[in-house]
Parts: sequence; structure tokens; C-alpha cells
Amino acid sequence: MSRIPQPTLSLQANFASDLPELAIPWQAEEPPEPRLLVVNEPLAADLGLNPEWLRSQDGIGLLTGNRVPEDASPVAQAYAGHQFGSYVPRLGDGRALLLGEITDTGGHRRDVHLKGSGRTPFARGGDGRAVVGPMLREYLISEAMHGLGIPTTRSLAVVATGQTVLREEGPLRGAVLTRVAASHLRVGSFQYARHHEDPAVLRRLADQAVELHHPAAAQDENPYLSLLRGVMAAQAGLVAQWLLVGFVHGVMNTDNMTISGETIDYGPCAFIDAFDRNAVYSSIDTGGRYAYGNQPAVAQWNLARFAEALLPLLHGDQDQAVTLATEALGEFPREFGTAFSAGMRRKLGLLSDAPDEAVSPLIDDLLALLHQDHIDYTQFFRRLGQAARGDLGPVRDVFTDRPALDAWIERWQSFTPDPEVMGRANPVYIPRNHLVEEALEAATADDLAPLHRLLEAVSDPFRERPGFERYAEPPPEDFGQYRTYCGT
Ligand code: AMP
Ligand code: MG
Repeated sequence: MSRIPQPTLSLQANFASDLPELAIPWQAEEPPEPRLLVVNEPLAADLGLNPEWLRSQDGIGLLTGNRVPEDASPVAQAYAGHQFGSYVPRLGDGRALLLGEITDTGGHRRDVHLKGSGRTPFARGGDGRAVVGPMLREYLISEAMHGLGIPTTRSLAVVATGQTVLREEGPLRGAVLTRVAASHLRVGSFQYARHHEDPAVLRRLADQAVELHHPAAAQDENPYLSLLRGVMAAQAGLVAQWLLVGFVHGVMNTDNMTISGETIDYGPCAFIDAFDRNAVYSSIDTGGRYAYGNQPAVAQWNLARFAEALLPLLHGDQDQAVTLATEALGEFPREFGTAFSAGMRRKLGLLSDAPDEAVSPLIDDLLALLHQDHIDYTQFFRRLGQAARGDLGPVRDVFTDRPALDAWIERWQSFTPDPEVMGRANPVYIPRNHLVEEALEAATADDLAPLHRLLEAVSDPFRERPGFERYAEPPPEDFGQYRTYCGT
């Protein structure tokens, strides 16, 4: 076999060595017949990895955790979590591993992590496996989020393992996803550390979080309070961005909420087509806990669990610690509201000097109108961009209540919206549910062309391109109610 050069690769083990109480050294399972399905060349380049080398046997060995550098020490991470509101004290990576950290070409530390790499001591009843469809789904949607400019974990590759995995639908093809993140520290990591018998663990975890994600907090009088505020602001901003593009995460358990502010764990997520605050796609979210419009409230609830875990670090006196935490969390609605309305202003092309007293009701009335007329959210804003350029036809076409729309447009136009700003804020292409399903169905039958085509569209979502017209269209009428599934 010809040798493809790969400069010396080093995988550091900072997490494993700084927080051994939260890390169980573990080995990835060896896939019988690994086959690379997709590799993210631009991300590989950012990481200093040669994409050609990644396609080689050694590269696939790295991507599945079977050939790691000598200095690597792969671990399964321990964490707890509130799942649908119920506390589970020991979750952890049941089918995942942190291979280690890599320093990217920008000098930033990035986790290299696997999903579907076999059972670990946290697997409980699970088989430790993942399957091709859902791993490609995570790859596609996380890359779409990145294209939209929304903080997210990234996907480096999906490798089919050659194993057969049994799921409710029957036997499916196994796969491993290689994921890259600023870290895998979660709210659930802090919940786990808080209950550790050694109180030093929580402090060490918090120190690592400060160093990695909120370094300025280290200089503050109360660094852990600054950490809480920093995470709160990052999550408020993140959830605002989700709402602005119509994203429903679907399983915002505290183990699926990062300290970095990156979106993580693409399970039952989906993008809304018709605007609906109550949109739920996950088959198990029967109560609508994680519905589109509930996401800010859930984020705040999760942050309260984060604050509870941090209490011993916030103040020596428990009551004073609670007061500090409550004050900090009380800022969430304002923080979220500011991020959301700033984003909505961009979507509407409004300049910052338009007064809030006028813009807020303009936004509220618009969302009510979209909800009432079941208007496709993404397409609406692009068509409104055309209206800002003087062509009102396309946006009027999609409404039934035209008098209400016309009245709203007149108010909006009085602020002289800027179509250039709108073009940069409103994506043409999102990973629409019917397109995702179409691409995954083909990929499952070994045709990866539709997946690559869709990736091409959603990786550059604001630039309208000829040949991609159908990717900008709402779903066909017979697409019906969309359902998504967790942990598959
Ligand atoms: P998730 O819903 O993917 O966030 O996973 C929740 C928890 O279930 C985590 O602790 C996972 O590691 C674990 N888990 C999910 N699927 C499996 C599986 N097939 N085998 C072992 N553990 C799993
Ligand atoms: Mg998870």
C-alpha cells in the first residue's frame, strides 16, 4: 500500500488526566469491515489532517478509534442528566468515546469523539452501536448548522462498520460517527461531579470549563459566578439562533446541553416547515416538553440545574450562593430576548435605530400571522426579501389572509428594510425534513449522491444557486406529519 503522508498526529489526553474521576479508559470495538461513507475535507484540513490519509487504512483506523497515536488515552466520559425532567445520576458515554484532544490549525483545542464505537461500562442495556441512517443524519444536520453560522459540534466522518445492528425496524447497518467539539462538557457533567464524594472534582471541572470556554472569568472576583453567567449567555444566544432558523432540538435533556454553547446530540431534531410554535417531531416527546417555542424555557430550566450543581463554588454560605445563582439566572429572559430580537431585526432587514416599541409588536404580529396561515417559515423570509426589493407578488402568493399581510407589510416598509441585510440573515437552504429523508433513504441503499448534493446546498445556505431550486421548496403536500426518533 502506498504511504500517504500525515504529519505526526498527537492526541492529547487533558480531560482524561485532569478529570480521571469522570473518565473511564476504554477501547473502541474493532469493526469487522470498516468502510468510509463520508469525510469532511474542510474540517479535516482545519484539524491539520490530510483528507487523503483519512481515507487510508490508517486514517479509517483513527476514525473508528482502532489506530490511535501512542500518546492517546481514549475514555468513556461519565455524566448524569435530567431526561424529560427526571434525574438519572449515572448516564455517561454508553456507546461513545473521547479519543482525545487535537490542536487545530488555529491553535484551538478540539475534542475528537466517537459515537457508535461499542459498549462501555455506561452502556446499561444498550448495544453500544449506532446505525448508518442516524449517523449520516447527525453529519448532515450538524454541518447545516455550521453553515448557518450556529455554534455546533462538527462531523468529521461516518464509517460503516460492516456489523448488523438490531433495531425496532429490523436489522440495520452499523456505523461510527467521528465528531469534533470544543469540548464535551455538559450540564450533566456538572451534575455528576456535584454528587461525587470528593468536592475537589467539581472545582477541577469548573476550572477546566473556565479555562476552555470562559477564560476571562478566571480574572473575576467570583470566577464560578462568571462561568454561570457566561454559560447562561452562550445558551441564551444559541437557543435564540435555533428559533431564528426554525430548529427544534428535540431532546434538550441536561446531558445534551453543552458548557461551550455548542449545539450537541442530533437525535430527533428537525427544522420546521410551516411556522408552528408547538411543533414537536420526536416520537417520545408526547407532552411537547421540547416543542419549538418551549426551547427558551427549557434552556432556562436546564441552566437552573447547572446553577444548582455549581452552588458550593458560588459561595461558602448556601443561602448566599442561592441568591447569587437566582440573580444570574434571572437575566436569562433579557439575554434571550435581546439575542432573538437582534436576529429578527436582521431577518426583517431593519436598522438598529428603528425603535424597539415599534419593532417588538411588528415581530409578534408577524409570527402570529405566520402561525395562523401555516406559512413556510424559511421560504417566507426569502420572499419577504424580494418584497424589500419591490416585488411583493411572491410573498403575497403564499398567504390566504392577504389583507392582514398587506397591513403588516405597510408597517414593515415604513422602516425601509434593507434587502442586503435580509439576504445575509435568511437562508435559502435548510435541511428540510423531506430532503433529509430522501437523502438518507438513498444512502441506506448505498447511493450517497443525494446526500452530497444536499450537503452542498446546506453548507452554503445563504447563496442562492441555479440547479438547487427544489432544495428551497417547502415539502410536497403529501409529505404529512414528520416523526423523528432518539438514540438509534
Ligand atoms: P442520547 O439520547 O443519545 O443523548 O443518549 C442518552 C444516553 O443513552 C447516553 O448515556 C448514551 O450513551 C446512552 N445510549 C444511547 N444509545 C445507546 C446504545 N445503543 N448503547 C449504549 N448506550 C446508549
Ligand atoms: Mg446525549
